[in-house]
Amino acid sequence: MSGVQDMRDGDGYNSGVHRRRGRGPHEPCARRVLVFPLPFQGHIDPMLHLACALHARGLAVTVLHTRFNALNPALHPEFRFVEVPDGTPAEVAAKGGIIDIILAMNAAMEASTTVRDVLASVVADEGQPRVSCLFIDANLLAVQKAAAAVGLPTMVLRTGSAACLGCFLAYPMLHEKGYLPPQESQLYTPVPELPPLRVKDLIFSKHCNHEMVRRVLARATETVQNCSGVVINTIEALEPDEMQRIRDELADLPVVLAAGPLHKLSSKSTGSSLLDQDYSCIKWLDTQRSGSVLYVSFGSLASMDADEFLEVAWGLADSGHPFLWVVRPKKVGDAESESARLPDGFEEAVEGRGMVIRWAPQREVLAHPAVGGFWTHGGWNSTLEGISEGIPMICRPDAIDQMMNTRYVQDVWGAGFELEGELERGKIKDTIEKLMNEREGAEMRERAKQLSRMVADCLENSGSSQIAIDKLVSYILSL
Ligand code: UDP
Repeated sequence: MSGVQDMRDGDGYNSGVHRRRGRGPHEPCARRVLVFPLPFQGHIDPMLHLACALHARGLAVTVLHTRFNALNPALHPEFRFVEVPDGTPAEVAAKGGIIDIILAMNAAMEASTTVRDVLASVVADEGQPRVSCLFIDANLLAVQKAAAAVGLPTMVLRTGSAACLGCFLAYPMLHEKGYLPPQESQLYTPVPELPPLRVKDLIFSKHCNHEMVRRVLARATETVQNCSGVVINTIEALEPDEMQRIRDELADLPVVLAAGPLHKLSSKSTGSSLLDQDYSCIKWLDTQRSGSVLYVSFGSLASMDADEFLEVAWGLADSGHPFLWVVRPKKVGDAESESARLPDGFEEAVEGRGMVIRWAPQREVLAHPAVGGFWTHGGWNSTLEGISEGIPMICRPDAIDQMMNTRYVQDVWGAGFELEGELERGKIKDTIEKLMNEREGAEMRERAKQLSRMVADCLENSGSSQIAIDKLVSYILSL
């Protein structure tokens, strides 16, 4: 492809393309892009934020979404929405973990022509601008195959870090060299092929069958290798070496772009929350002292057992610090299921100082001046959201990429630290004290503030992420 090098070389964007922040009311969109997110919270929002950023540059957007965890079109009247019957078996959708659902959903889609038929009809819609390409989550190989069958180019949005994509690509090597599955005796062994990672930081989940994780990552890698370009929700200056390694490995791809943090690029704060966000917490934060509140949330999937839950509750109570704690239903998307029950005496012990809610408007919470610390599971979106607002973090990683995100937060960026080992109320109290009150915590806060300035820089007009989106739009228009 002759344009390949043009797209990859140089820092500027193609000056032949007008950088636009929106269209006049009667101006038609130049082209249309389709987006198809994986239907999980941490994957939906970045895709919709990317769609918002492209729409703001003058492209029309059609959102394809599965019936499982279906999206709410009312949140994005500027887009068209098309539901795709994904065929995920009901029992897997109800009881399965994310890995089971990814595999079952892909298998069902591959077993029928439904996705292909939907794509063909969306592309053929003559009342709409011509479709340039389809953005898919890396976990939707079945959708890529359907797109290839109707001649539609696919672009991959990676919702994890660049380091995480590097680990995907290296997964076969990590097994060949014996780093994975991880052995207890080797957890602190460095992995020189993927600095600064150690064995304990590699992608792994104690909750899933490792062969299934391996299969999911092999399929995601295939999707990346077969696509026409990759957009990563990261910042060039945050992961320069990791981005370079990926560009070297994916040298045949015309575009490999770091365009994050996507939630900051889109003018709309709305992603598409699968649970109702409880805005009463913002009013409560308004009553708290600046920088005093610890925000506690473990994302949409991470779980803890009943004993750990009790220790967290009493650790927060004993800390004496104001806190906002998200105790979500068992599974996001499952509004039916109850949240875990708080222990007797807890509410009285934290009255006026602690608030517990089922689901937060997290980005608004982290941007609130009252919030001074974030206890997170280290999901990539949460990590980026914390960094963007300059909030130091306590990380309690659970699975997949959360261990490596924690490694970067603690040892590369210095904006937080890991809470390791058993969860115990006394240790939790000390950990909170370290983050919120001690000198070490103050240094992490300073580092987090520097990182938020780095984020602000990449969002400037000539910032790296704006330029990445410009390059992306140029590329889309060239398809
Ligand atoms: N989130 C939210 N409200 C909450 C907790 C989380 O809106 O109460 C959002 C959060 O802002 C983030 C996403 O859910 O964008 C979680 O993604 P992440 O990658 O951090 O973790 P995952 O849920 O995928 O493990």
